[in-house]
Amino acid sequence: MSFRAPARAHARGDRWSVVTTVLRHALVGSTRASRATSVSLGAWPDAATRAWFSCTAVCVALALAPTLAHAAEPAGKPGAKTAVTPGAAAAPAEPPAEESPEQLRQRLAERLRDDVSSLKLNIPANKAKDDPRSRRPSTGKSAPAAAASAPKQDIRWGYTGEGAPDRWGQLTPEFRQCAIGTRQSPIDIRDTIRVDQEKIQFDYRPSKFAVVDNGHTVQVNVAPGNSMEVMGRRYELQEFHFHRPSEERINGRQYDMVAHLTHKDADGRLATIAVLLERGQDQPLIQAVWNHLPLEKGDTYEAPIPIDLNQLLPKDRGYFTYMGSMTTPPCTEGVLWMVFRQPVQLSTQQISIFSRLYPMNARPLQAGSGRLIKESN
Ligand SMILES: [Zn+2]
Repeated sequence: MSFRAPARAHARGDRWSVVTTVLRHALVGSTRASRATSVSLGAWPDAATRAWFSCTAVCVALALAPTLAHAAEPAGKPGAKTAVTPGAAAAPAEPPAEESPEQLRQRLAERLRDDVSSLKLNIPANKAKDDPRSRRPSTGKSAPAAAASAPKQDIRWGYTGEGAPDRWGQLTPEFRQCAIGTRQSPIDIRDTIRVDQEKIQFDYRPSKFAVVDNGHTVQVNVAPGNSMEVMGRRYELQEFHFHRPSEERINGRQYDMVAHLTHKDADGRLATIAVLLERGQDQPLIQAVWNHLPLEKGDTYEAPIPIDLNQLLPKDRGYFTYMGSMTTPPCTEGVLWMVFRQPVQLSTQQISIFSRLYPMNARPLQAGSGRLIKESN
């Protein structure tokens, strides 16, 4: 193999020397022809004419060069190359040693075509992957609409598997905000600014309640008449529910559980109060809720006794506040969050009762995106 390469290089060197010789003669010839024409025609010795002659001569020389080169090839070489064919069998990828300029041109053309076709295959594939617009259907619907037309449509959102939080935004167009929102919850509460925040004015009173296991959490619907007031707005309590572990973190620390008390004002604005729950003593209000857990998912248990939500609030009412979203689909933004700094205790047994139903139902942390977080002094 090693001794064949110089022979081929030599053959190619011969061809190129012939080609360059032909080109040189052609150029010289064209110059002479140009001079001759300038003598005989007199009026045509201009630069344009000379250029035309030169160009024509070079083109003819290029067209003839391969044939001339082939003709000029030494006759003894084919025999010399035949001697090395046993070695060539081990390298089928290599071109045949004996190759006419025509074959060479054809092989180069094929190689070029292969390269181009592989480029055609690769470029659109990468583009389809990286460019979100390419995932949009031609009907002009949005990207989530395309996803909704896929089998994913029937997938129920949850915290693991096919309906896990990182896929919520693709499950249905209504959940789009979960994927594209920039004011999402929960967040790691850190780098706060400490200010004199007004106290949240609670107007909670003993109320009838019903417990429902909605398949995502244990939710408690409370009779109307419970509200709180903050920043000049009055919000009515809608329901409260639990997550394990806590969704929000304080300087990176996650708690055993959290209770979210969701409120809405007359204009439909949402405000959620978060009560962090840590392992410790029994919590009487939570016990009242657990006592009335329905036996089946989707069922509602209307409790015969009232609960007083004041029992769930910590003694220290200092809080963090920031603008975020619902932490479950459709991840609606514009939610005023107030997270109490002081956690409330519940017992290990109370935690284990919830974890029998929902071992993990916390959405992962979302980007803070430079949001301002206030903290009570
Ligand atoms: Zn929640």
